[in-house]
Amino acid sequence: MDSATLLAIDRAHAWHPYTAPLDRDPVYPVRAARGCELELCDGRVLIDGMASWWCAIHGYNHPVLNQAARAQLDQMAHVMFGGLTHEPAMRLVRTLVELTPEPLQHVFLCDSGSVAVEVAIKMALQFWIAAGRPERHRLLTIRSGYHGDTFNAMSVCDPVTGMHQLFNRVLPQQVFAPAPSCRFGEACAEADIAPVAELLARHRHELAAVILEPIVQGAGGMRFYSADYLRQVRELCDQYDVLLIADEIATGFGRTGRLFACEHAGIAPDILTLGKALTGGYVTLAATLASQRVAHGIASGAPGMFMHGPTFMGNPLACAIANASIELLLAHDWAANIQRLEHGLNTGLAPARTLAGVAEVRVLGGIGVVELEQPVPMREIQRQLVERGVWVRPFGRLVYLMPPYVITDAQLAHLCAAVVAVLGEQVEQAE
Ligand SMILES: *Cc1c(COP(=O)(O)O)cnc(C)c1O
Repeated sequence: MDSATLLAIDRAHAWHPYTAPLDRDPVYPVRAARGCELELCDGRVLIDGMASWWCAIHGYNHPVLNQAARAQLDQMAHVMFGGLTHEPAMRLVRTLVELTPEPLQHVFLCDSGSVAVEVAIKMALQFWIAAGRPERHRLLTIRSGYHGDTFNAMSVCDPVTGMHQLFNRVLPQQVFAPAPSCRFGEACAEADIAPVAELLARHRHELAAVILEPIVQGAGGMRFYSADYLRQVRELCDQYDVLLIADEIATGFGRTGRLFACEHAGIAPDILTLGKALTGGYVTLAATLASQRVAHGIASGAPGMFMHGPTFMGNPLACAIANASIELLLAHDWAANIQRLEHGLNTGLAPARTLAGVAEVRVLGGIGVVELEQPVPMREIQRQLVERGVWVRPFGRLVYLMPPYVITDAQLAHLCAAVVAVLGEQVEQAE
């Protein structure tokens, strides 16, 4: 299909993430991707700074992941998980239990991050129903969070940048604490934790769980907060006997420099969600892990079973690719590699610090963020970045990078330099 036809169909009939069918941002036809590069239909090659929204940690078209997919295809692409089980899923379940904190022993495989969050919330609610405490049905979360686009997930997204205004008639009303003001690497002062402590004390009789993204708040603002804060939230949850749900869909599998971001604080959640990089960006798959206490609690009360079961639960193809992706990650000194990325992002983005209009540059692990004082003109910036041979998709006041882990030093330097140059031009034009 030629590009003109492709674009015509796209414009006439296809939804893209967060777009209107009319008058929307341009889209770029892509025909292939390999390593850390996207190849557009017009032949241009772009260095990928997004890892396709945190997912493609090993880059694109990886021979090991391709081989895992082919081998599994020759066995079976899918069978139902109701009443059947299979090696790809059991290998994955065992690996996830081994890699995550000790209390997490029970794995629910599901289709996408948002569904994993729905499952996590449903587990927390069912836990309290089974315990004879159905009034404990609300969630506490911190502002600037993002947990997905389905309804319960939306209810715990940031109430301002999320979709609360639009859906306030149907969204469950949750309890919101301010976003943590103590930064990563800093201690958490009394004043930082006091609002959460107060809200937990006030609402403890109706709270099922606290849900948060550990250490890095992703799509809600790309903020990095204190490990000490997370540790104190865990202690407060213990004190008031409220469950803690850690949403590691974005942070899992090494992105922040630890395999899971909870490790920065040395804490274990009661429920953990994983997704995005789980299959190395090949196909959609997510997982919700529960502690023995949560799983046994759910089993002990009516109806005695967990009430969720997606059609494609435990999809063998997705599980086989996930197994290969995790094996590939752990086969290398991935932590040293993330340090290399952190160093490259720090060095490459440093010149942005002195640009007018830049509020802050921050880097953690394989995440680099340039926060501006004003929202970026997305359409224009995107075009200029593509002209400079890089794929970056800014939002709001944020231009951020989270490249595939396989990016070379030279590619990373090019990526950062393009961002700095485009932001520099932007400033000049504004003057
Ligand atoms: C992306 C994301 C989700 C939602 O995942 P989908 O696969 O897009 O449904 C949930 N939580 C966090 C922290 C995310 O980054």
